[in-house]
Amino acid sequence: MDKLKTRFAPSPTGLLHIGQARTAIFSYCLARQSGGEFVLRIEDTDRERHIEEAIPRIIEDLRWLGLDWNEGVDIGPDGLPIGRGPNGPYRQSERLAIYAEHIRRLVDAGLAYYCFETEAEEKVLRAAAEAAKVPFRYPRPATFPTHADADAARAAGRPVVVRFACPAQDVTIHDDAFGDVTMPAAEMDDFVLLKADGFPTYHPANVIDDALMGVNYIVRGQEFLGQTWRHVLLRRAWGFAEPKGYCHLPLILNPDNSKMSKRDKHRLTRAAAKDALAKGGLTRAGLASRAGAEEATTTAWLDGADAAIPLAKLEHLAASLNVHLPEIDVADFRRSGYLPEAVINFVALLGWNPGQDREKFTLAELTEMFSSERVSKTNARFDRAKLLAFNTDDLAAADEPRRLAALKDFLRLNPASTIPAGNDDLLRTLLRATPTLRTLADLPAKCNVLFEADDAYDFDAAAVEKNLRKGNNAGFDVLTQLETLLASLPQEAWQIQPLHDAVETFAATNALGMGKVAQPLRVAVTGTTVSPPIADTLAILGKEKTLARIRRCLALR
Ligand code: GLU
Repeated sequence: MDKLKTRFAPSPTGLLHIGQARTAIFSYCLARQSGGEFVLRIEDTDRERHIEEAIPRIIEDLRWLGLDWNEGVDIGPDGLPIGRGPNGPYRQSERLAIYAEHIRRLVDAGLAYYCFETEAEEKVLRAAAEAAKVPFRYPRPATFPTHADADAARAAGRPVVVRFACPAQDVTIHDDAFGDVTMPAAEMDDFVLLKADGFPTYHPANVIDDALMGVNYIVRGQEFLGQTWRHVLLRRAWGFAEPKGYCHLPLILNPDNSKMSKRDKHRLTRAAAKDALAKGGLTRAGLASRAGAEEATTTAWLDGADAAIPLAKLEHLAASLNVHLPEIDVADFRRSGYLPEAVINFVALLGWNPGQDREKFTLAELTEMFSSERVSKTNARFDRAKLLAFNTDDLAAADEPRRLAALKDFLRLNPASTIPAGNDDLLRTLLRATPTLRTLADLPAKCNVLFEADDAYDFDAAAVEKNLRKGNNAGFDVLTQLETLLASLPQEAWQIQPLHDAVETFAATNALGMGKVAQPLRVAVTGTTVSPPIADTLAILGKEKTLARIRRCLALR
């Protein structure tokens, strides 16, 4: 097998989302299985959408997934991004001179040309195309301006951009997923290579870097497939070799067939807000205050302007409306308690078919199994129930050190939990008491109450009715007897097995099913019917807290 050198080239306009993670994983697998190399390059030429803080976060998320790379951007000892490898720099903003030099070579060769239109002038050109109902195509001049013309234009304060003089030839690329894709020359335009701010556009920067960094196989999302002809023509213009192959990955859709995107978070929250407004449970002013914004801002947001409400505020608003924001970014899945192995396994099956019955595999196994020929061009559907099932299995299969590490990571990212995150012995006990978890979030959902103050939790009215009051206070009677029994147990009996035996013996002696004993007790000490097994629950609480809680509950009688 040829050694493949692949790369992952995110633009830092936000966190690493799940579709990008799939691109990174497949690129990584191809490089590793062929004994080749994997590069992480940061494509930061879009200065308007640039978010510097996203770079270390993207790196962190890639590392969390278990990926590593031979060359590229990494985090230095001071916590800031640094480049490492022989083909750096690996941030495009640090390679401007390289692009300028390459683009100038095309101008010199008559393969690209300067243009000087102001924004207003370009608008007029575009309006003409629009009026004629034809796609805008820049009118290529018969003779190209010289470098001196460009200097003069610059001195006169005009914007100077460089456009590619597209050769009049159809371009066919062979894609490993989509097959042959042809772009007819008649549909091509003289696209911009160099912007007035001195930054290149995506196309030349991407092509130059892939060539100079020795990247020979390109994996990326389907949204770039319609652009690849530009890259082919640019490669020819510079005399760069064709890559060994391309593999564009199909779209990832929500179950309702909409494209899965960061916008989904806004869409769902907006729907809930509109619903609450319509039902009268929420006023416009109330909405604005929950969003921490002016009313005019939230109105714009309700009308569809996602950007009006930043993510942190959206999360707050969503929580207040009881909307669980869908996980979209890798960091979302991590914070919601998914294991990276489950995320990788699930994501790999989005648009790729392993060609065998087996569906579960590790990253190492995927690295061996992956083949770009088995990438499908059919849109993939994001089935959250399946991901949850994978995660449940992976949590059950993980050994205790792995579960402990994942739980600690989860608690660090969810500081609102009352669980003492620094006490490893206690965390191990909690993990043993909750062997079946769909996500790590299930653990605090069941256990947080054990670490709250004894009078801080509410008694669920329905649970009290059903398990304590019903049948002429039968549950309260049981609870009264249990209080006496538990109070009589010596301190050394306050452990899982002796407590389990004591409760079981009590049930047998009184000819009661375990449920008739455990449930009243559970409602008393947690307020609800959901908690770890009763003996574990009591052991974790300890004698004093258990008795205080039982007494507080008995006072409801
Ligand atoms: N920089 C592009 C992005 O973030 C990736 C382009 C490519 O992989 O060719 O989507």
